[in-house]
Amino acid sequence: MSSIKSVAVIGLGPAGAISLDALAQEKAFDTIRAFERRDRAGGCWIEDPEDNIQQLPDLKKIAERSPDETLPIPAHIPATLPHNTQYRFSDTTVYPTLETNIDAEAMAFSQEPFPQTRTSANIEKHGEDSPFRHWKVVERYIQDLVNRRGGTCIQESSKQ
Ligand SMILES: Cc1cc2nc3c(=O)[nH]c(=O)nc-3n(C[C@H](O)[C@H](O)[C@H](O)COP(=O)(O)OP(=O)(O)OC[C@H]3O[C@@H](n4cnc5c(N)ncnc54)[C@H](O)[C@@H]3O)c2cc1C
Repeated sequence: MSSIKSVAVIGLGPAGAISLDALAQEKAFDTIRAFERRDRAGGCWIEDPEDNIQQLPDLKKIAERSPDETLPIPAHIPATLPHNTQYRFSDTTVYPTLETNIDAEAMAFSQEPFPQTRTSANIEKHGEDSPFRHWKVVERYIQDLVNRRGGTCIQESSKQ
């Protein structure tokens, strides 16, 4: 029997969530503490409400491979330039219509099948038995893993 009684999991994406669940099942620890810098578990599968998809560059310009405005070349190099505020990326990994692109069976943790919930757009595209899931299903799946042993695990936010 290990003398280690207190363990921590850092980050509650899919990897952290299943680690936390596995540690809780060991029933060997007095304290299992999880640190997540965001306000929820889910990792890549949670939306960033502060992200504004409207800030993305013009789609036509992206298709033409010219979304970035050309930056002026400084008269002298080296030069210290002001911070460039041109919006170049989305802060969130999730967008409203995102569906998984891997079969749910392959994405699932052993003994933790994915819920059967499918969006109508998904069914329309891939049929009633579509192997794909909307991102919200994945988010809930991960959060359920974290929350189902709430009595054993302590969730803490270390938001910076
Ligand atoms: C658009 C997109 C689509 C995808 N589609 C699929 C798919 O269909 N199927 C599939 O299997 N995979 C897919 N993936 C990949 C999948 O999302 C990742 O492989 C998975 O999320 C990785 O899990 P993770 O727990 O390792 O990391 P993450 O999901 O990145 O989670 C890491 C967590 O750690 C937290 N963290 C980091 N540093 C700290 C710190 N210092 N203190 C506290 N917390 C911290 C973060 O906030 C985050 O919550 C997709 C990814 C993207 C971006």
